[in-house]
Amino acid sequence: MCGIVGYLGRKAAQPILIEALKRLEYRGYDSAGIATLSDGVIKIKKEQGKISKLEEILDAPSNDEKLGIAHTRWATHGKPNQLNAHPHSDWTGKIAVVHNGIIENHATLKTWLSSKAVDFVSETDTEVIANLIGYFYSEVNSGKDHTQAPPDQNKFEWSVQRALAELHGTYGLAILCADFPKMLIGAKKGSPLILGVGEGEYILASDAAAIVEHTQKAIYLSNNEMVTITPDGFNTKTIDNVAVSKELHQIEFSLEQIEIGGFAHYMLKEIFEQPEALKTCMGGRIDRQNNRIKLGGLASYLRELTRTKHLILTACGTAFHASLVGEFLFEHLARIPTETEYASEFRYRNPIIEDQTVVISISQSGETADTLAAAEYAKERGATVLGIVNVVGSSIARTTDAGIYLHAGPEIGVASTKAFTAQLAVLTMLAIELGRRKNISDTEAGRLIEELSAIPEKISRILKQSEHIKEIASANIKKNNWLFLGRGFNYPVALEGALKLKEISYIHAEGLPAAEMKHGPIALISNGTPAVFIATLGPQYDKILGNISEVRARGGKIIVVATEGDESIKQYADHLITIPEAPEMLQPMLTVLPLQILAYHAAVLRGKDVDKPRNLAKSVTVE
Ligand code: GLU
Repeated sequence: MCGIVGYLGRKAAQPILIEALKRLEYRGYDSAGIATLSDGVIKIKKEQGKISKLEEILDAPSNDEKLGIAHTRWATHGKPNQLNAHPHSDWTGKIAVVHNGIIENHATLKTWLSSKAVDFVSETDTEVIANLIGYFYSEVNSGKDHTQAPPDQNKFEWSVQRALAELHGTYGLAILCADFPKMLIGAKKGSPLILGVGEGEYILASDAAAIVEHTQKAIYLSNNEMVTITPDGFNTKTIDNVAVSKELHQIEFSLEQIEIGGFAHYMLKEIFEQPEALKTCMGGRIDRQNNRIKLGGLASYLRELTRTKHLILTACGTAFHASLVGEFLFEHLARIPTETEYASEFRYRNPIIEDQTVVISISQSGETADTLAAAEYAKERGATVLGIVNVVGSSIARTTDAGIYLHAGPEIGVASTKAFTAQLAVLTMLAIELGRRKNISDTEAGRLIEELSAIPEKISRILKQSEHIKEIASANIKKNNWLFLGRGFNYPVALEGALKLKEISYIHAEGLPAAEMKHGPIALISNGTPAVFIATLGPQYDKILGNISEVRARGGKIIVVATEGDESIKQYADHLITIPEAPEMLQPMLTVLPLQILAYHAAVLRGKDVDKPRNLAKSVTVE
């Protein structure tokens, strides 16, 4: 879940590692640390808090230190404090490790190592890795027979392999050994790891964002693979020492795309990028002349999709909300029985996967551990598994049989915004195409395609209301409990609106199908409780007016997202935000915008760090 980075090259490592950490900080930020190696000495500095805190304790960079590793942590084992921050070294001080992931058998290994008089200082699972490598390294150096490394292999690499063989769980690792001042080792299982290959330099990182500043050439390690890097080059092999050759890929995004530009926060930038992101996402896929949707990646699976009687969408968080909209779209347009499952629950409940079951895994990063595990599980059980992800070459993209990329550009803000609307756009395109093949007329498909093409421009119109929405946030900022309510296609948007507010402003919020409110949550309404209703024109418009009245009668403060030109809604609303008219099934791509903007302003008004909300991290790569 965190960011890891390693550097080996001709330049001073420290500034490069720190810069790279800043680009990865959105992945975890409860503590950070760095280790550099020169003259056979590993120097470690680490600090609780954000990377800026780490910078305060660093020495001036030295040109002698051309090799190093660094880490920005999202704690899983042990409090986020200085002691538990990475890098971790072994008890001899010869090995240093940064780790992303969880070692499940850390307790057993710790007991075993302790019985060998190995000392531990932290509460982390990661320290076990450092000590295990250190243990095998000292064993092999002392010439013990049973641990002899093959003569053609260096002892550092061998010790790493020997240790990895004992680990259960997930890891992305970057490792140094004081006796090998020109060697960096990386290894991967279940957590992302990419090697950027530059001119005379290498950057190993959990995320391409840390690499693009230096090179756009990269190799993506697969599970159970490792890489050994020296100034002369690198070699890749499996963790049990079988050579593998890897293809060099071009990283698709540029440095400019991951810079914050003139915006105060990445989240705001990404909210405002949505018109462009959706154009790129849909561009080349929508053929307006022939009323067709072309989804190249899925071409050979479309027949199977039209025939399936059981479609399962699995995802977490925001992508789960997009999946709920997807479920409604597939059932409505293509009449395919569809269910949406929390990826974290899916594989633990013995789900029904039959012959023609198709599973679609949805994740912005393509690294979400729960979603990845669900995809792997579905595959093992014989399902066709497709992916909808944003990050090219990510684990889910590589695990699934085929898929569709969002092409929304890098998303850095922890609170997902443009990935959500792009996920909706992809699900809508797929549902229209499947619908056209089995349920709706070409004319109807054409009408929807036309409407879909108009969405980016309509989003731009909503964005113009940002200041107005800020005033609404400001008028209600003291309130600590909010409700978000919607019906039909907009009910998942209500869930998403509540999630956005919770995750960045820490205001408690509940999202509900509006009619459910009277079955319990209406008890939460008291004088002035903000209730955000999505009450756009559509089949359930009259019903939701009834729901608004129920809340109003109990003193709730009514914030309404309504359709432009709807005069009659005004009498129901304390605050009104409008969206351009659109067919109900496409509305989520519009109605979510005011809620994203509302959450953003609420968080800023409360003085919260929008891009780095407490306890959260982008891309949840632990289960
Ligand atoms: N499990 C490790 C820890 O708690 C790594 C966490 C991470 O991925 O940041 O330190």
